[in-house]
Amino acid sequence: GDLFGSGQMFLPQVVKSARVMKQAVAYLQPFIEAEKDPAAKAKAKGKIVMATVKGDVHDIGKNIVGVVLQCNNYDIVNLGVMVPYAEIIETAKKENADIIGLSGLITPSLEEMTVVAAEMKRAGLTIPLLIGGATTSKVHTAVKIAPNYDAPVIHVLDASRSVGVVSNLLSDTLKAGFVEEVARDYEDARRRHQARQDIGARMSLADARAAAVEIDWQGYTPPRPKFLGLKVFDDYDLAELIPYIDWTPFFRTWEMKGVYPAILEDSKTGAAARDLFADAGAMLESIAGEKWLTARGVIGFFPAARVGHDDVEIYASDERNDAAVTLSFLRQQMDKAAGRSNHCLADFVAPKEGGPADYLGGFAVTAGIGIEKKLKDFDKANDDYSGILLKALADRLAEAFAERMHERVRREFWAYAENETLANEDLIGEAYRGIRPAPGYPACPDHTAKKDLFELLGADKNAGITLTDSFAMMPASSVSGYYFSHPEAKYFGVGRIGRDQVEDYAERRGISLTEAERWLAPNLGYTP
Ligand code: SAH
Repeated sequence: GDLFGSGQMFLPQVVKSARVMKQAVAYLQPFIEAEKDPAAKAKAKGKIVMATVKGDVHDIGKNIVGVVLQCNNYDIVNLGVMVPYAEIIETAKKENADIIGLSGLITPSLEEMTVVAAEMKRAGLTIPLLIGGATTSKVHTAVKIAPNYDAPVIHVLDASRSVGVVSNLLSDTLKAGFVEEVARDYEDARRRHQARQDIGARMSLADARAAAVEIDWQGYTPPRPKFLGLKVFDDYDLAELIPYIDWTPFFRTWEMKGVYPAILEDSKTGAAARDLFADAGAMLESIAGEKWLTARGVIGFFPAARVGHDDVEIYASDERNDAAVTLSFLRQQMDKAAGRSNHCLADFVAPKEGGPADYLGGFAVTAGIGIEKKLKDFDKANDDYSGILLKALADRLAEAFAERMHERVRREFWAYAENETLANEDLIGEAYRGIRPAPGYPACPDHTAKKDLFELLGADKNAGITLTDSFAMMPASSVSGYYFSHPEAKYFGVGRIGRDQVEDYAERRGISLTEAERWLAPNLGYTP
């Protein structure tokens, strides 16, 4: 743990060495049992129950944390993904756990974590609760989760911090001081958060709409896609996707900071990065060569028009009479400097009244079909390193698939940039025309929007991708989004929105205000 903490060792090396240790233990276990010598089996320093919460499927970070803690002689009970609170609590009781660790990637999991905390309290638990995962934060943990539970609730920023937090919590001498320090720190975070809430001046929805970006639709003819409707890709060539991989996030997954390819030559991380990269390259060859994974996807183009201010109607045909579905988007309400617009994705589609015929596209792609079999093999072989590496590479291939498909859309299918030729670094840098915003991301933060998108695309039947009850995609290594073609279309963050917009949005979506507030919780600029 110390070598790791002091930066002399990096996560991939820790996880890889854990493999050797685990395999050795698995080999020796029968002999140790035969000896019946209790001292031969080192006593664990504590037991931690870990789970990815209900509705969420991502667990790479959590699994890395689990291995790192195991290396430090903690007993880990990893319940996997999509775990309901009842199972977490029952297991913690049955196993007499010392700590519970929750993980989640998507924003609806933040809400689920507050539920778990409240249920832990109701069940009479008093063990510490650790919170981790991409969208979690110290502020959210302090403001939203901790108040639901009477024992310590602590945000763990990354795997490298987990050992320190756990050892403090399980130390007779250090625990009290540590818990007190965290409590003070979190109280402070709550106070500062409250102060920010109060000063956050926001525009009314009406004023924000008046400040929409104005696109000159009269002088513009939207390009017509080469086909309307769906195109299905059943078994996409993985080898074609490999050159499209963005490697920087791959190293970040392993908590190695730095940009690819420079990271390979870095004086501190270079050697470890090169080892990891070589392992990744070797596994990619097997993934593609031995067909460990199957990539499937579907894209679609539809006649579309902006209606009202923030909605886009999708039509089944060029006649444009009956809207097949209406997509509702959210608009920025922050105070903007004069001349700056309050953005909404709908602004990038031509209006129904007086605008030219325009189109919207959608896509859902996955590289995770078939991953379970290989993961099971690695699990049986006590090979956490390869299991985590495979998941990380499947994620990379899914993103590469989205990148490659978007390129083909611009060049072949929507064909508004037939002569585009960009190097991978320029694709990663988004030096092209058009965007592919993903539901759940800052410009369209409502994850439930995936339901309409998936129905339009037949994503389940056509690509084998389904949604969990929190609207996470399964397989986990999947990417989906909309295609906008207008040259001025760009990414932005919706940020904090007012009650006026949430009410309006709930009405447009045909859901209750309470439900809208639940799904938009991270964006609410007020306390419901
Ligand atoms: N090269 C990266 C690509 C993913 S991040 C990788 O391999 O991980 C960029 C993608 O995230 C975009 O293509 C878009 O789909 C989504 N995205 C980024 N910013 C967004 C925003 N503000 N709103 C909606 N989607 C966004």
